[in-house]
Amino acid sequence: MKEMLRKSAVELAAMLAAGEVTSVELTTACLDRIEALNPRLNAFLYVDREGALATAAEIDRRRAAGEELHPLAGVPIALKDNMVARGMPTTCASKILEGWEPPYDATVVERIKAAGLPIVGKTNMDEFAMGSSTEHSAYGPTLNPWDTGRIPGGSGGGSAAAVSAFMVPLALGSDTGGSIRQPGAVTGTVGAKPTYGAVSRYGLVAMASSLDQIGPVTRTVADAAALTELIGGHDPLDSTSLTDEVPALSAATAAVHEAGTVKGLRVGVVRELTGEGYQPEVQAAFDATVAQLREAGAEIVEVSCPSFEYALSAYYLIMPAEVSSNLARFDGMRYGIRVEPTEGPVTAERVMAATREAGFGDEVKRRIILGTHVLSAGYYDAYYGSAQKVRTLIQRDFDRVFEQVDVLVSPTAPTVAFEFGSKMDDPMAMYLNDIATIPANLAGVPAMSVPNAVADGLPIGFQIIAPARGDLKMYEVAQLVEDLSGDIAGQCPAQTWEEN
Ligand code: GLN
Repeated sequence: MKEMLRKSAVELAAMLAAGEVTSVELTTACLDRIEALNPRLNAFLYVDREGALATAAEIDRRRAAGEELHPLAGVPIALKDNMVARGMPTTCASKILEGWEPPYDATVVERIKAAGLPIVGKTNMDEFAMGSSTEHSAYGPTLNPWDTGRIPGGSGGGSAAAVSAFMVPLALGSDTGGSIRQPGAVTGTVGAKPTYGAVSRYGLVAMASSLDQIGPVTRTVADAAALTELIGGHDPLDSTSLTDEVPALSAATAAVHEAGTVKGLRVGVVRELTGEGYQPEVQAAFDATVAQLREAGAEIVEVSCPSFEYALSAYYLIMPAEVSSNLARFDGMRYGIRVEPTEGPVTAERVMAATREAGFGDEVKRRIILGTHVLSAGYYDAYYGSAQKVRTLIQRDFDRVFEQVDVLVSPTAPTVAFEFGSKMDDPMAMYLNDIATIPANLAGVPAMSVPNAVADGLPIGFQIIAPARGDLKMYEVAQLVEDLSGDIAGQCPAQTWEEN
């Protein structure tokens, strides 16, 4: 592996600015590694060598001409395949969108292009972001670079694997119930879900609109901060977009790194998100990091959020309800494939049925059916209505404990990466992976996973949750946790893999 691929995005940006490397050299190194490793990992569904190198060359030219550039200009990035970018297919890892090329750029993509980051390609995921292992991709699973017999998490397993295997320093993910954070935890990468509305969802193919949020996938907290500053901020094209200024995350993390502490920090350990159900190694790593935070000067308080017990149930009513509505647009008329019935009349309804039968995988069908059921007239109050009440109770739990503490912490995922096939026959077992990540989505608050340990060769993640609009504090604590835990991403064994 080329030495420069080991560097963080912020370090690479400095090297580019100093003229120690060109964007073409760096982008070529990434593309070569992607080409060499992708047959083994299946992290990318599409690679845009030509487009990425064209951007890189353009940035090198502008830099040589002395133009003022964005700090991350020339640093390559990958996109989860549910964000639309002109000139590349978007599949959401579904057969139904095979061959579809979007006619526009997502707002995040527009900002990335304007800043001059070469986009190397689109990463694998569970179909329409439904899953926790990337096994639900219609194009085959992504393998975990730490152990290729194990899952890289989901739904954003492709972005997490690409970053952890040093194929690219930056990637974007989307998090509806944990799809940035849980893959982060099981691949030793940093993943953040910003406050709902802090990053535009325009051009993100919707899964569950009231929960979806785009965020960074990186190997360091400082990189996540820098990327969030680039993609964040108000967007008139997203009606739920916040009008707040993007907080100065990079400056805040640099200050914490320098000081080695966060002054006056009060940390809440959520009783409901520890203990039973958490693998002993995961629990031990969590306890050790909490002890280190205490030594670093933080006040540690145990808090209780009793409604969190019902978060998973509420999520699996609200999310499928929104899924069933959002995915109604894939009807064989407007996007992607169109399948006509093999016999009988070719009516709109029958084309729709044949297209959806052929185009959607089992998990997507399961959720659409569940969603239409919970929204049906006779069951609406019992299921969807009750779930919305639980959602309010969860938000109240957060409000109450955030009067006492600055951030909440928990393990990100209940276990380390599990083996392929071990949860595919049992949807409930798969859903349990998100037990600790879902409350933040239901309340719209920011949450982040930072690698904090390695046990038996597999990484573990530490979750930090902050109040809505409290992203800055979350990043400060994340930086502290990273500094206390050491370079976990740097231990990924994939770095020794030969590239040819
Ligand atoms: N794993 C969760 C699910 O299957 C979360 C998905 C996501 O965040 N996109 O719904």
